[in-house]
Amino acid sequence: MGSDNGLRSLGDYARRSVNLFTICRCGHSAVLDSAKLNRWYLFHCWNTDMETIGAHLRCSRCDGHPDRFAPTPRQPNNPHWMSDEHQWERLAKRLADRDVTKPMS
Ligand SMILES: [Zn+2]
Repeated sequence: MGSDNGLRSLGDYARRSVNLFTICRCGHSAVLDSAKLNRWYLFHCWNTDMETIGAHLRCSRCDGHPDRFAPTPRQPNNPHWMSDEHQWERLAKRLADRDVTKPMS
């Protein structure tokens, strides 16, 4: 699993303006918008290192976690995902509310 392309985090993908090609063990693949995905992870305070991002991704076919990633110039499969700034505002509010009401566990 060598990654000698210098892309070690979602932020690296976003800065290079390349999207994320994900490949699941079941063979299903998808192209994700790296800039939006990076922002999504930062909103959730998730680690954006390529070695750990699979934990928060789900394959739409087998529900598994994709574990292979590569840069691609192709357009994302779902360009409408989080394409509206209001969606980001709602996400921020939802996350903030969740933090406030989080029980001691
Ligand atoms: Zn799969």
